Amino acid sequence: MNYLGIDLGGTNIKGGVVNEAGEIVREASRPTRVERGPEAIADEIGILIKELEQGETFAGVGLGCPGTVDDESGEVVCAFNLNLIHYDLRAALKARTGYEIRLGNDANVAALAEAVVGAGKGAHSAVILTLGTGLGCGVVIEGKMLTGYTGAASELGHMVIAEDGAPCTCGRKGCFEAYASATAPIRMTTEAMARYPESEMHAIAKENGVVDGRTAFMAKERGDAAGTEVVKTYIKYLASGVTNVVNIFFPEVIAFSGGVANQGEALLAPLREEVRRQEFGGAYVKKHAKLVNCTLGYKAGVIGAALLATQ
Ligand SMILES: [Zn+2]
Repeated sequence: MNYLGIDLGGTNIKGGVVNEAGEIVREASRPTRVERGPEAIADEIGILIKELEQGETFAGVGLGCPGTVDDESGEVVCAFNLNLIHYDLRAALKARTGYEIRLGNDANVAALAEAVVGAGKGAHSAVILTLGTGLGCGVVIEGKMLTGYTGAASELGHMVIAEDGAPCTCGRKGCFEAYASATAPIRMTTEAMARYPESEMHAIAKENGVVDGRTAFMAKERGDAAGTEVVKTYIKYLASGVTNVVNIFFPEVIAFSGGVANQGEALLAPLREEVRRQEFGGAYVKKHAKLVNCTLGYKAGVIGAALLATQ
């Protein structure tokens, strides 16, 4: 039997019918149109479910949503970019479609998909780190997502790696997120450009019309000293957080996604070296956590939501 996964985002609601092998067999999407309010969002999801049914009855329906969700009560506790605050989405969708949906945080369900059918397929355990605007995380051990007592676990981005360091969106200072998300290399690059007016990074920023996570990596490729320094600093912080993750969970796989992960081996090769140097028992252990890139892309959100419904 097939499951339905829904990825509720600020712009679009994506839905996919997922078979037991974790593959999408058909998909569709609808605009979220947040401005029309919670009931209209529920209407759109209901229409999407009906559209994808095509005479089939799903074995289960799962939904990934940004922010904090409570799968026990069926409530979206707070998803600020969707304007959903204490909204009983399960009841709203039960009334529209008859399905009792399972709810998960979008980053967590995407991690579940990567861990079970993507980069971590067949692995004992996997940690997924999304190096985006923030630092999204998911910890999956033996096929089960680590949710903690309240469902809010796995916020690895908010462990402090630099006491009294850069301010974080969560209110603390020096969080892993503040040093390893895609916004961190932008901040480091901007600072380095101010210090080194002769750096190649100025020309690259002009060529691309923007300073972004790629600027320093491109400068490093051109042999620019300041760019090389930024990349080194970024990888140093990233390695610090990743080593903590290794020391706490020792997962078989740590998989990266998000803008910075597009650097591929230019990021992963020096990162592996640094993590192996720092990890507990690193000089003696024979098995290391495999540091790789995610493989499912945008499909992870939909597949993960469907997998949630199977649990
Ligand atoms: Zn934080």
